[in-house]
Amino acid sequence: MRRIAVIGCGISGMTLAKRLNEAGFAVEIFEKESMPGGIARGFKAQGWEDSVEFFYHHWFQKDNDLLGLIAELGLKDRVKFRTPKTVMYHKGKFYPFDTIPAAIAYPGLGFGIHKIRFGLAGLYLRITKDWRTLEKVTAKEWMTKYAGEFAYKTMWEPMMIGKFGAEYADKVNMAWLWARIYSRSTSLGTFDGGMQDLFDIFAEQLRKQGVSIRLNTEVHNIRKNPDDTFRVVTAEEETGPFDRVVVTTSPQSMLGLCEELPKDYRAQLAALKHLGAVVLCVRLKNPLSPQGYYWYNLPKNEGYPFLALVEHTNFIPKERYNNETIIYAGDYLPQGHEYFKLSAEELLEKLVPGFRKINPEFSRDWIIDASKFAADYAQPVPFVNHSRAIPDMKTPLEGLYFISMSQIYPWDRGMNFAVRWANDLSQKIIQAS
Ligand SMILES: Cc1cc2nc3c(=O)[nH]c(=O)nc-3n(C[C@H](O)[C@H](O)[C@H](O)COP(=O)(O)OP(=O)(O)OC[C@H]3O[C@@H](n4cnc5c(N)ncnc54)[C@H](O)[C@@H]3O)c2cc1C
Repeated sequence: MRRIAVIGCGISGMTLAKRLNEAGFAVEIFEKESMPGGIARGFKAQGWEDSVEFFYHHWFQKDNDLLGLIAELGLKDRVKFRTPKTVMYHKGKFYPFDTIPAAIAYPGLGFGIHKIRFGLAGLYLRITKDWRTLEKVTAKEWMTKYAGEFAYKTMWEPMMIGKFGAEYADKVNMAWLWARIYSRSTSLGTFDGGMQDLFDIFAEQLRKQGVSIRLNTEVHNIRKNPDDTFRVVTAEEETGPFDRVVVTTSPQSMLGLCEELPKDYRAQLAALKHLGAVVLCVRLKNPLSPQGYYWYNLPKNEGYPFLALVEHTNFIPKERYNNETIIYAGDYLPQGHEYFKLSAEELLEKLVPGFRKINPEFSRDWIIDASKFAADYAQPVPFVNHSRAIPDMKTPLEGLYFISMSQIYPWDRGMNFAVRWANDLSQKIIQAS
């Protein structure tokens, strides 16, 4: 039986393990954290029925690869779609922006030619599939030309700056923005019980299938043997031989894991840019959003100290959480930003003024608890012609493969695409064996 090591027990690693094991490989997953689920994993406080993710997560109706996998696991009935409200800011107020009538009513774009151009550009992006033409220009160039400068400045620029920071906002290609507009739905899905339940059940099914999952086991090195097999080095041991190794970590981590990778491939990995994410998840005694909104897109230039305010319990009923309100305040930030270094308490101090701007009645004694979650690798940055810059999933070292959020393109990173890419890669590995 051929042995294969999978580094990482996120949704990519688990999907690969399932497919490869079904095809007859002996699969061993190495995961540095204590639980499966990767960046979408979550936690459950005492008294809660459901878990919440460390970083806010939801699915879209077109997420067929992920929904197909969940159906295969026999868990289709536990996927629930709801339509919570997303809002945009304009002159001190928030307005729903998640349906066509709501977008028409949104005052931020005026009511004349700006709105018509915005609408026509949006319509074109919902219909076209020609992302290859769109990746040749920046989102700023395309939107300014077709939706108009007014719409770009009012609508898209704050979002691009929020997501990619001032350094990259005007360098991201238009295919990235197209993918978001093309593939997303207003109806949002989640897993009944919380996504951690999905990962725990998936891991259990994999174990029953014969996959070995080694949690709390960080891989430090991957080394090639003279006979073209591999050794995997952890803090405790050097294990193997493995006929194949698939790495599902960040590009930076991949660079450190395998020094034998040729120079050109290493240069491709090193050239990929990304932002990290910092999220504060706060448990409250009272609802924060006076109107029951789920997702606030916040403009930083109006003094909000974070990009998104997500009131999770306006998506999942708060009865599942012992009647607590759960909010996230989140931001995408470059490595080295001060928020990465702050404790939950220190970060809370910085964010509380933002909570008050959303609800002036907010009071510190509403807070039950606050937890901070941070990830260095959270949002890849796709520049113009990104498709030419993506490192192949099959590395130049025969038998070593690499799959990450940075290769998911033209789509924005997401669990659905992680499953699709993992399905494709497992097929390639099976065919090459
Ligand atoms: C803030 C935020 C919000 C998001 N929101 C959504 C959303 O709403 N909907 C959606 O579909 N997607 C969302 N995503 C994206 C989604 O989480 C990812 O696309 C998906 O989880 C990626 O899965 P993965 O398995 O490829 O990678 P990961 O989940 O990152 O898994 C990689 C695993 O490798 C492990 N690892 C790393 N290095 C080592 C090592 N040396 N040894 C052993 N193990 C190692 C890590 O611990 C991790 O478990 C969001 C992401 C972020 C950051």
